[in-house]
Amino acid sequence: MTDRALLARARAALPGGVNSPVRAFLSVGGDPPFVARGQGCRLWDSEGREYIDYVGSWGPLVAGHAHPAVVEAVERTARDGLSFGATCALEVELAEALLARYPFAGKVRLTSSGTEAVMSAARLARGATGRTRIVKFDGCYHGHADGLLVKAGSGLATFGTPSSAGVPAAVAELTLVLPLDDEAAARALFAEHGRDIACVVIEPLPANAGLLVQRVEFLRALRELCTAHGALLLFDEVISGLRVASGGMTALTGITPDLVTLGKIVGGGLPVGAYLGPAALMDQVAPLGPVYQAGTLSGNPVAMAAGLATLRLLEQPGAYERLEALGARLAQGWGGALRAAGVAGEVARVGSILWACLQPGPPPRRFDRIDPAGAPRYAALHRAALSRGVWLAPSYYEVAFVSLAHDEAAIDAAVAVLAAALGKG
Ligand code: PMP
Repeated sequence: MTDRALLARARAALPGGVNSPVRAFLSVGGDPPFVARGQGCRLWDSEGREYIDYVGSWGPLVAGHAHPAVVEAVERTARDGLSFGATCALEVELAEALLARYPFAGKVRLTSSGTEAVMSAARLARGATGRTRIVKFDGCYHGHADGLLVKAGSGLATFGTPSSAGVPAAVAELTLVLPLDDEAAARALFAEHGRDIACVVIEPLPANAGLLVQRVEFLRALRELCTAHGALLLFDEVISGLRVASGGMTALTGITPDLVTLGKIVGGGLPVGAYLGPAALMDQVAPLGPVYQAGTLSGNPVAMAAGLATLRLLEQPGAYERLEALGARLAQGWGGALRAAGVAGEVARVGSILWACLQPGPPPRRFDRIDPAGAPRYAALHRAALSRGVWLAPSYYEVAFVSLAHDEAAIDAAVAVLAAALGKG
């Protein structure tokens, strides 16, 4: 079956032909290929074309596609049953592996997605503090729970307004929205609403609207404000956790949050999320405490096995150094290609997470400093790269991921393609 025929069937059967919106390629144009197979750092579409992949399933595949150790663990575990609805040893193992990486935390609850993890952690924060408001930042994404599909209101208003139809204004108003990188705005918000704030949720490395690298002092100021006002600090490390370091941004910054949420890598390509914190806080979750949260497939053995196998690969000596070196090589090559083509822009990077910011000057730290004029430039680059066998995220605002399955040759091949694509762009 050709991609064209599949696309027609997909569009007839699925809204937009997809099960998650960005996959539809609406912001870059062109028809999305259908992926038939992935191996290592490569993808093949249903018509047999080969691509070097820099999306990695949007983050989980830090070990690459179909890593033999992960596939073997999944196969072996699946033979003994797909789901039990009772606790299995692999859940304990994964929980312990996560707690070892986040020593501030005493207990973890496993969920089936990042969305669930953040939604549940926010509920826990509200339950534990008895407060109703949460604070989020313009440009951070935390999944699609109603209270987090919220954007800043107009003007100086910090009360959130829905960023999706179907989210009641009354729910959105409970979320206060701040700009990133602005201690003064955060202080002013706490001065006014501090007693009502249950938690501040932030991606400590915001990677859902470009890569908006924060100053550690800013994150530290949030920690201090939360402590001073009795609010909890939630680091949403669904992307950064286990990727930028084994203890994520929590380890890199040395800042101790009250709650961390994980996803993506923690399931090694299968659906897993997690939220973790000190035991006394986590014990407020059901069944021990009054904060309800559950999941039919949570702790699913096959997903646990995939996550554990992936963590083991990351534990091998030199894994993070390798991700750093490969990420640096791609950033350097991509940046050089931009300069050679005379395209204004710079590649922002932390470890194996990269974003080509296509505007003059250094990459910004806050969302409203991203010039949307970069989007059509990126769309042209995306189409040209795809046609030359490099699979980039189909949106200007999404980052690129490098995996342990990439090597120097795959990076250099991609850089050559980007250089050619920019030349024609
Ligand atoms: N938080 C962050 C920081 C994310 O990047 C994402 C997904 N990209 C989520 C939460 C939601 O995770 P999921 O898509 O697994 O529900």
